[in-house]
Amino acid sequence: MNCKLCNFRCGADRSIKTGKCGIDDKIYIAHYGLHCGEEPFLTGEHGSGTIFFAGCTLRCRYCQNWQISRWDINKGTAGVETVSAKRLVEIFKELQSMGAANINFVSPTPYAHHLMYAIRAAKDNGFTLPFVYNTHGYDSIETIESMKGLIDIYLPDFKYGDDKTGKKFSGAPSMYSHGKEVIKAIYNQTGMLELDGNGVAVKGIAIRHLVIPGHLESSMQVLDFLETVDRRNYISLMSQFHPCDDNYDRDYPELNRTLLPEEYERVVDYARILGFKNLLIQELESHRNYLPDFNEDTVFKD
Ligand code: SF4
Repeated sequence: MNCKLCNFRCGADRSIKTGKCGIDDKIYIAHYGLHCGEEPFLTGEHGSGTIFFAGCTLRCRYCQNWQISRWDINKGTAGVETVSAKRLVEIFKELQSMGAANINFVSPTPYAHHLMYAIRAAKDNGFTLPFVYNTHGYDSIETIESMKGLIDIYLPDFKYGDDKTGKKFSGAPSMYSHGKEVIKAIYNQTGMLELDGNGVAVKGIAIRHLVIPGHLESSMQVLDFLETVDRRNYISLMSQFHPCDDNYDRDYPELNRTLLPEEYERVVDYARILGFKNLLIQELESHRNYLPDFNEDTVFKD
């Protein structure tokens, strides 16, 4: 009734109107299923049990999930399922029966209050798979603290090395300065990532950073900060940037291309120089394999 789930802290009473994110007090799911394209420590043998929520608090100009992240509640719910928290718990069990290694909430922030309820209900009924909070990292600190004991694994993005670039490409203030506080709050809550005997994550934090073409200084600034947190943390350094917006030529011409090999190599080399112990790197072709199409029955090619 006074929403402060994300760092916009718009204070909307979502029982009577949508917040700045455009989402009211219901739960909207765009897609769920097993997903083998996540980091190996999440996919396990059969895949991560991903639940993609509709909408998002951010408006990243290069979002590869734009078909669902820019979902507009006012244009109807075609392709989007409105579910209760009880149904959400049933979906957890469905994914478990399919062999999921975990339950992976993608873009969960505006739904965090529902998730707390559903996770508690599932755990009270003996559900044991780890819960993954796969977030853009613009959650409020209170949201992260409220998840203590409920979320097992956090997968926050740390997108930008300065606030100006965050405002420009994601439309949100303080993305760097607030992002640092989020990473520290999560790390203090869970510690570094712990894997079981099969290399599957059971607890902790892993941080994702997507390298943006032409913005290597921002990536290096991100790495400089992460090095101060813990060099043993798992860092997923992603190369899969893909242009997804028809207006790039007009607004952001520098985004109208994929990453160059030499750009990615520079950032990877810098991370190695800083001494990160658990660095995950991608093939440069990843932008083709991991580009989803939520209008297809098979959302991911690979
Ligand atoms: S999640 Fe939505 S309603 Fe809540 S503070 Fe953020 S923008 Fe506002």
